[in-house]
Amino acid sequence: MIPVKAYAAPAAKAPLAPWTFERRDPGPRDVVMDVLFCGVCHSDIHQARDEWGNATFPMVPGHEIIGRVTRVGAQVKGFKPGDLAGVGCLVDSCRTCASCRKDLQQFCQQGPAWSYNSTEMDRRTPTYGGYSKQYVCDEAFVLRVSPALDPSAAAPLLCAGITTWSPLRHWKVGKGTRVGVVGLGGLGHMAVKLAAALGAEVTMLSTSRAKEADAKRLGAHEFGLTSDKATFKRLAGRFDLIVDTISAPHDYNAYLGMVAVDGTMVILGVPPAPTPVHAFSFIGGRKSLAGSLIGGIAETQEMLDFCAERRLAADVEVIRMDQINEAYERMMKGDVRYRFSIDLATL
Ligand code: NAP
Ligand code: ZN
Ligand code: ZN
Repeated sequence: MIPVKAYAAPAAKAPLAPWTFERRDPGPRDVVMDVLFCGVCHSDIHQARDEWGNATFPMVPGHEIIGRVTRVGAQVKGFKPGDLAGVGCLVDSCRTCASCRKDLQQFCQQGPAWSYNSTEMDRRTPTYGGYSKQYVCDEAFVLRVSPALDPSAAAPLLCAGITTWSPLRHWKVGKGTRVGVVGLGGLGHMAVKLAAALGAEVTMLSTSRAKEADAKRLGAHEFGLTSDKATFKRLAGRFDLIVDTISAPHDYNAYLGMVAVDGTMVILGVPPAPTPVHAFSFIGGRKSLAGSLIGGIAETQEMLDFCAERRLAADVEVIRMDQINEAYERMMKGDVRYRFSIDLATL
């Protein structure tokens, strides 16, 4: 077993604190890496605070992991010591169901193994995330990361990047598509950058007037202030695709009003409580209300390669590991520009 230093949430209402645990001995197909940076996703907060009702403790959050490979098993072909490597939300799946065969491991019909607050596919060995010094993962779920990207800024691509890339690709966003991005946080800022890079006409829909200049700098062509009711009237029927990244309860009906005929609103944010949706909000205009969950492994690699080619990554504020509780408080207030990235050298 490999003893690993980490930060863990000991219980749902407790702050994160230093903790040590053991990772499994690496097998012949495993890659062992020293974690360099780990992004802080709002899903870490939801789970560490047990807002989704599925938490197991102690919990080591973190699924936006960039590491330096230190060792590989005898059968590993794609990685060698010294390589940069990434691990996102997925660390294994059944590999044989219809979803897995279509490279949609996130929808594995047996339920995938997640990088934390989960177990390996043996359903016994707990998984612990990237707020830790080392990670061990089967090569099939490890991503190649270009050294052309700053690793602190590349880390958030492993969740915020792929979660926004996947729906943009699925709904064929490209030149001339009108995309509305709701919520300018970690996911939102990646959605703006990626949609703009794909050639879309992007409007940032935010509650924060103070983020308007940033939204434009990130690639948005327009800005709509959603705390002002007039914005919903002005932009009624405008968007082919709305990408909703809000982490807290809000009125889906109001946002559906801004979707064009035959357009789609895709929900990415997972507020802790359900929200009512009226049929009238989408039967008029033949609108679709959809959801999307991260992305498969091949698609994640495609996104990382696209980003490396364009030198595109997250805007990060690098923090020390012991600043994590403060970082959570700031994210709860929308005070992050636009992703915290933990420097694991500080642990
Ligand atoms: P984040 O960085 O905290 O950003 C969320 C943004 O939502 C905020 O910056 C804010 O933007 C807006 N917002 C927050 N509270 C709001 C409220 N009460 N009303 C209106 N807007 C509000 O979070 P994140 O890491 O991007 O994650 C966003 C959500 O996506 C979380 O629920 C997370 O669990 C979920 N998620 C889903 C997937 C998936 O696969 N579907 C993957 C990762 C994360 P403005 O200041 O611009 O209004
Ligand atoms: Zn995430
Ligand atoms: Zn499967």
